[in-house]
Amino acid sequence: MCIEQLFISPGHNYFGHHGQPPDIHPIVAVDEIECVAGRGIRGDRFFDYKPDYKGQITFFAAEVLDDLRISITDRCNERCLYCMPEGYKGWERQTDHLTAEEILRVVRVAAGMGFRKFRLTGGEPLVRRDVVEIVRAMHALPGVECVGLSTNGTKLAALAQPLRAAGLRTVNVSLDALGEVSYRRVTGGNLADVLAGIRAAVAAGFERVKLNCVLMRGVNESEIWPLVLFAAEHGLPLRFIQLMPVTSAEVLTEANFFPVTEAMRMLAEREELEAQPSHYLGFGPAKYYRLKHTGALVGFIGALTTPHFCETCNKLRLTADGKIRPCLGDHGELDLRETLRAAPTDEAVREVLLAALRRKPLEHGFGRQYQPCRPMTAIGG
Ligand code: SAM
Ligand code: SF4
Repeated sequence: MCIEQLFISPGHNYFGHHGQPPDIHPIVAVDEIECVAGRGIRGDRFFDYKPDYKGQITFFAAEVLDDLRISITDRCNERCLYCMPEGYKGWERQTDHLTAEEILRVVRVAAGMGFRKFRLTGGEPLVRRDVVEIVRAMHALPGVECVGLSTNGTKLAALAQPLRAAGLRTVNVSLDALGEVSYRRVTGGNLADVLAGIRAAVAAGFERVKLNCVLMRGVNESEIWPLVLFAAEHGLPLRFIQLMPVTSAEVLTEANFFPVTEAMRMLAEREELEAQPSHYLGFGPAKYYRLKHTGALVGFIGALTTPHFCETCNKLRLTADGKIRPCLGDHGELDLRETLRAAPTDEAVREVLLAALRRKPLEHGFGRQYQPCRPMTAIGG
């Protein structure tokens, strides 16, 4: 079997062998005892190239870094236990939030550099009044292939149709419980609004609607099976997400932690799980399985327990206050807002994005006594 047959998958369009992959100009190269990996640029596209598994340095798989996740606000109308606990006071100043024009400028420059996928998030992106206009303008920019949105779904019933008409292609909706009381306990919000939002998203004809559930022990593990049945009934992919250290320290206890491997075991006791190809449903961090009997498509995102979790990471993050964050699990940030407000040329914006790509760590630092600094709501999940 040739190398391409072994490793090529859609979107992974470069494979080399022995040492530096040919015709990728390296930006950073890291040599470790058993692992050779680095970051490169070819034409206007950026790559992470890594061995497919430790110890195997003969073949390289290169990820195209073409995904920008944009937090358009740190405000939210819910108070999820795992994200923004009651009484949270760490709000960014409104004047520090990027304006729609500033966001669009970043997107235009990034698209010119080869970024293709953009996802609006927050906080809750749908509490921002100009969200539909931002989507419409982003969708119209040359080079922008896909605009997606992550939402808690509470405002989606009214906005799904206008967002679809504006060019939004994919929607991820957080759904942590299907019991009204449990849903309110986890999020502080109203389940009926979210269910109406999901129905509206399906009716609006988005190319993909996914459901996300963050697992917390003693809080929502009893919701795992009902959520799977709901996902199967509506034909929507469902992802279980393991608690990550991007919230206040008191939430991050051993007692609250529910490994996705345990969720997997629970499901495997009920029915057979068929592993799906590694890049099924895009290039996200989830490992997908099809439940043989119900037909549900379930993904597991375990940043702290999945080996090689970062290998497929192809994104940068732009925070609501204009910082470029190369990695969710690394405190390193570059100030793009300063540049946007002070520098007249797009070249300066490009330089900051390029510097962020250079600084993107090869893996997150969650495992190394990582102390949360900015919560998820400020970074953009
Ligand atoms: N408000 C929207 C929502 O809830 O989907 C978008 C922003 S939210 C920060 C994005 C994603 O981050 C959601 O799927 C949420 O469940 C996840 N998230 C928030 N805090 C988390 C944590 N501490 N660990 C793991 N995932 C978290
Ligand atoms: Fe708000 Fe989303 Fe965080 Fe929940 S996860 S508090 S909905 S930003």
